[in-house]
Amino acid sequence: MMTPEQYIESLRRQKKEVYFMGEKVENVVDHPAMRPHINGAAVTYKLGTEEEYQHLGSAVSHLTGNKINRWTHIPQNQEDLVKKAMMLRVAGQITGTCFQRCVGMDGLITLYSTTWEIDQELGTNYHKRFKEFLIETQNKDYMTDGAMTDPKGDRSKRPSEQHDPDQYVRVVEERPDGIVVRGAKMHQTGAINSHQILVMPGMGMTKEDEDYAISFAVPADEKGIIYVFGRQVNDSRKWEGKIDQGNAKYGVVGGEAMIIFEDVFVPWDRVFLYKETKYTGKLVDRFASYHRQNYGACKAGNLDVLIGATASLAGMQGTMKASHVKDKLSEMAHLVETMYSGALACSFNCSQNGCGTAFVDPVLANSSKLNTARYYPEVTKLAQDIAGGFVATIPSEKEFDNPRVASYMHKYFSTGENVDAIERIKMGRLVENMTGSTPIIECMHGAGSPQAQKVVLQRSINWRDKMKYAAEIVREPETSPTK
Ligand code: SF4
Repeated sequence: MMTPEQYIESLRRQKKEVYFMGEKVENVVDHPAMRPHINGAAVTYKLGTEEEYQHLGSAVSHLTGNKINRWTHIPQNQEDLVKKAMMLRVAGQITGTCFQRCVGMDGLITLYSTTWEIDQELGTNYHKRFKEFLIETQNKDYMTDGAMTDPKGDRSKRPSEQHDPDQYVRVVEERPDGIVVRGAKMHQTGAINSHQILVMPGMGMTKEDEDYAISFAVPADEKGIIYVFGRQVNDSRKWEGKIDQGNAKYGVVGGEAMIIFEDVFVPWDRVFLYKETKYTGKLVDRFASYHRQNYGACKAGNLDVLIGATASLAGMQGTMKASHVKDKLSEMAHLVETMYSGALACSFNCSQNGCGTAFVDPVLANSSKLNTARYYPEVTKLAQDIAGGFVATIPSEKEFDNPRVASYMHKYFSTGENVDAIERIKMGRLVENMTGSTPIIECMHGAGSPQAQKVVLQRSINWRDKMKYAAEIVREPETSPTK
């Protein structure tokens, strides 16, 4: 396994083509817009290798028997799924933001079981190929970017019906030694700091869409792959100082990027699905359930940080004993624990598929993600309520170096003898950062928009059974009860 430092150093050896704000980025590791997110991903290596966290962050590979990082592990049983959720909450508590490696983890888990099923039915050899890829990923402790979301063009049309055939990643050439792919994947979490890209179809495909029904893996610095790093609200603060960023160590959300595949060659041994449209819907649903399991855990960890920042501010500002503040803090905790309980529930209520992979309960996983999309903004509103309006109007940290106003900054931002103005402002900035638009939008749409979860629920709930329960209760008894 790699340590956080080894992971960061390994990124320096890559030759990726990355652009940000119209310019080419030669060194992602030391770029101020990217480094906080890289630090966030490095926490997954910390959990794998440091003694304090290893009981959650490491696992034993069922393929090799080697000790591996849990972010590369295929869950074999209920305990593995529960530990996955517990690990994500701890990582969320350390970072206060997204640590990015879970999309790839869920892609690995999903393709492991889906390729097995395809081979069972079709006699193909995708699973053997995938196992070799997985063993290399585990042994080298690679960070994998799980790439699913296509640009999608006109949402009312299928991939093959779009005005531009590249709106979904597709195969454009078949060669004896592999395929050539073209297209793009949007807002890819952790893409610029991953070792490899695992591409999956973003929706269920029909026969007409078979050129789009592909899954494959490529090294992240493969020729023809271009990254365009996204902007975030207030991101220029990242190169202006530390305090105003709020979370200078780990940033806000996952440092998302657009990945462009400009006719990229993929050898056959890295192709894991090729035109078998029948399996695309199952693959997407399965991936979504695993990733929706996570949200109740990683976001609970993030919100633990927000609750801590809010309570600290209440303490500094003399409002901690007010009954409405105590009530709101416990409301925040209640919502967070409700989110987390969903992540645990879908893990406990798991099933096992043919190749032995443990699968979360999809109804509970989707319900948990819906709760998270609904409760996360509620918790942020309560934090803003308690923290106070000053969070929205704090002057720049540079005023502490401005000889004309620095003393007034200290004087008027201090709220008591033992309250340091800078410490109060740091907490205020953390609250501002965590309750701003970017994390809330991410929480809504990450792992699929709420409507996608409702579609799964509509499909999966046994409505007939529920009607039967009601019918049983109102049914006339055959003989009148005597008692
Ligand atoms: Fe992991 Fe959560 Fe980030 Fe998804 S949003 S990659 S589950 S930390």
